[in-house]
Amino acid sequence: MKNKDKNTVTRRLDDEPVGSTVQVVHVMGDGAFRQRLLEMGFVRGAQVTVIKNAPLQDPVEYMIMGSHISLRHSEAAQIEVTDRDAEFCNMEDAFNGIVETEVAALDPLADDVLRVVLIGNPNCGKTSLFNNVTGAKEKVGNYGGVTVDSKEGWFSIDGRKVQLVDLPGTYSLTEYSPEEMYVRTYIRDNHPDAILNIVDAGNLERNLYLTTQLMDMNIPMVVALNMWDELEKSGDKLDIEMMSRLLGTRMVPLTAYNGHGVKDVLKATMEAIDESEQETMHHNVNYGPLIEDCLKELAAMCPTLDRYTVLKIIENDQHAIELLNGQDNAEQVKELAADMRQRIERDFNSDIVSTITDLKYGFVRGALAEALTPNPDRVAGDTKPGYSLDRLMTNRWLALPILLVLMWLMFEATFTLGAYPQEWIENGIGWIGEWIGKAMPDGILRDLIVDGIIGGVGGVLVFLPQILILFFFISLLEDSGYMARAAFIVDRIMHRVGLHGKSFIPYLIGFGCGVPAIMATRTLENRRDRIVTILTVPFMSCSARLPAYLLLVAAFFTAKQGLILMSIYLIGILVAAITAIVLSKTILKHDKTQFVMELPPYRKPTARNAVIHMWSKGKQYLQKMATVILAASIIVWALGYFPRHDGQTPQEQIENSFMGQMGKAIEPVVAPLGFNWQMGVSVLTGAAAKEIVVSTMGVLYTGESDATEESTSLKEKLQTATKPNGEHVFNPIVAYSFMLFILLYFPCIAALAAIRREAGTKWMIFEIFYTTGVAWLVSFIFYQVARMI
Ligand code: GDP
Ligand code: MG
Repeated sequence: MKNKDKNTVTRRLDDEPVGSTVQVVHVMGDGAFRQRLLEMGFVRGAQVTVIKNAPLQDPVEYMIMGSHISLRHSEAAQIEVTDRDAEFCNMEDAFNGIVETEVAALDPLADDVLRVVLIGNPNCGKTSLFNNVTGAKEKVGNYGGVTVDSKEGWFSIDGRKVQLVDLPGTYSLTEYSPEEMYVRTYIRDNHPDAILNIVDAGNLERNLYLTTQLMDMNIPMVVALNMWDELEKSGDKLDIEMMSRLLGTRMVPLTAYNGHGVKDVLKATMEAIDESEQETMHHNVNYGPLIEDCLKELAAMCPTLDRYTVLKIIENDQHAIELLNGQDNAEQVKELAADMRQRIERDFNSDIVSTITDLKYGFVRGALAEALTPNPDRVAGDTKPGYSLDRLMTNRWLALPILLVLMWLMFEATFTLGAYPQEWIENGIGWIGEWIGKAMPDGILRDLIVDGIIGGVGGVLVFLPQILILFFFISLLEDSGYMARAAFIVDRIMHRVGLHGKSFIPYLIGFGCGVPAIMATRTLENRRDRIVTILTVPFMSCSARLPAYLLLVAAFFTAKQGLILMSIYLIGILVAAITAIVLSKTILKHDKTQFVMELPPYRKPTARNAVIHMWSKGKQYLQKMATVILAASIIVWALGYFPRHDGQTPQEQIENSFMGQMGKAIEPVVAPLGFNWQMGVSVLTGAAAKEIVVSTMGVLYTGESDATEESTSLKEKLQTATKPNGEHVFNPIVAYSFMLFILLYFPCIAALAAIRREAGTKWMIFEIFYTTGVAWLVSFIFYQVARMI
């Protein structure tokens, strides 16, 4: 596969018009990013189609090897291309089939626990399979980077217990991104008994690249051809038996999301393990005589290293070379490897990294040319089914309006649909409170139950329906594949604030809860990008703050409630944007980051996933009620109840209580924002968890005696609450100022713990002061200005 025609006229991919299909000649530059492009399929001879520009012109969507990938113009400029039918190289030349290499027979297993790891490209269905097999309810979503951690589960087969490990998706094992590093290290440190390599059957060329690397690990492996349903629908035909033979690995069709083929996959995995205890032959990619000789010679000098690592040493991969340390002949190996590298580069007339990548892709293509019969009705350059929605969703003029409408719809539905079940719960709680109030004798215990527990926990519990609706919508966005489109659409805007389109995904998740959102930043390759995103995620208003808004909006705004609610969210986004700009221009300044992201086909969201997602969030919410919020309500109640003085009105009692004294102490700080001491106390207690803002208000306002008999709900109590001088405590301006403060101040304890874990203590401390300072300032300016108008 030598460069047969050095005189090919090349252009830059960046200059190609939309709709054209060209052939890759060369990727310029060097280093990790180039490697990533090669691994994603931009190898010599690959056909690329320019699909469309993002609505704001950058990035651009390309189709390569059947998958859709977005690149920024600046990145596409690194790729040299030529006419689609220029005959300058023939990839299938590279197909040499497989070689058998001898590996030491595996030790009979030390313990009788078998461990199988799931490895595959992002978004190929690993977690779907994991959930199906182990009964777990891990999160599934139609975009790359949903799983950021390893998850372990168990299953039994033929009386044997097996541990199954779900790993983050990865395109390769080259240790370019944190996920790749994670997966590579995991394999090296944990010695799994078998690899279950999940591939997207509709996208074999790209997916099998990783398989070629895994083959060299010399670990028993089974390839599960997932999304078999999609392959069948596409009209392509794959000869599985021939494919298995060509690759020398077991291959089994699978449709993970409905469970078809799961049994066969597990059976094949167990067979592979059993066989490995007797057989010592392992099948590997044959790289041709020159490289195979080099590999053999070098492997003999490093008996402890696997073939993958030996090849990486020839490729001059620093991580692999480090593994030589401690070996006596390390220097000798390095020298020899350098020598071999030169020989190979000379012979192939290309640098070592692209040579090896080309060879691996050549191997995959050669096998596919034999075993895969594409649907004859499909025209080259045609997109696969599942992308037609993009004519609308990423349309130049409609994309941004659609994004805004979708978000508005999400909040409006949360507000209006949720109001019905909310009312039922509210009535139910009111009724229980009344009933207990009548049934129990006067005394501390009754006050604790009615005012403390029912007032506090009940006040927050009523928002459960809304929270579930919000998560339902987020789950739809995640499952349909729209998330990746959103990132594609807004990348240009995000770029302006110094961030990456991919940061949009954690932001959207942040509307649900900041903790998973902070975890989701792990898909960002650049550490500074990550930190900026982590620090700004808490400005995305999470669902825990929703109860406070819903309460205040319903109580003090009669018209356009959905819009008022949305305005709060938008202000959060605005503050995040300003923060990101400032941070990325000052303390977290960095070079531009790349935007390689895959756009998966749209998939129909499954009811099962949506329900699982809602259920697990609902359960979390209820658990929080039963623990943190219950405890906080009781503490708040007690601080407001004691010390007792005889002959005081409830109002005086609470003012003279510990809580009252605390509130009075902080009142000067919050008074300029329009808050009274009850509100001050609420934000103080809300630092533990934002729902507690409402539960505290619930407790503090239950004791009010001047509320009329009917005004049982907290909303009505707030509407009628008056200051000593007879003025209403709340009005729309105060309510809005209060919402702004709740939006922006101090992230909850759980979010701070996540920030600390992901970014470090220093940044956590920064975040505490920064968010609270910003909150005070914004509320102050709003309140003082609005009051004057
Ligand atoms: P992971 O990133 O590899 O863990 O993949 P997920 O399990 O999160 O799945 C990615 C997407 O593919 C989700 O939208 C799944 O519903 C969908 N999916 C998974 N398996 C199949 C399958 O066999 N057929 C089809 N059509 N979709 C699937
Ligand atoms: Mg996953």
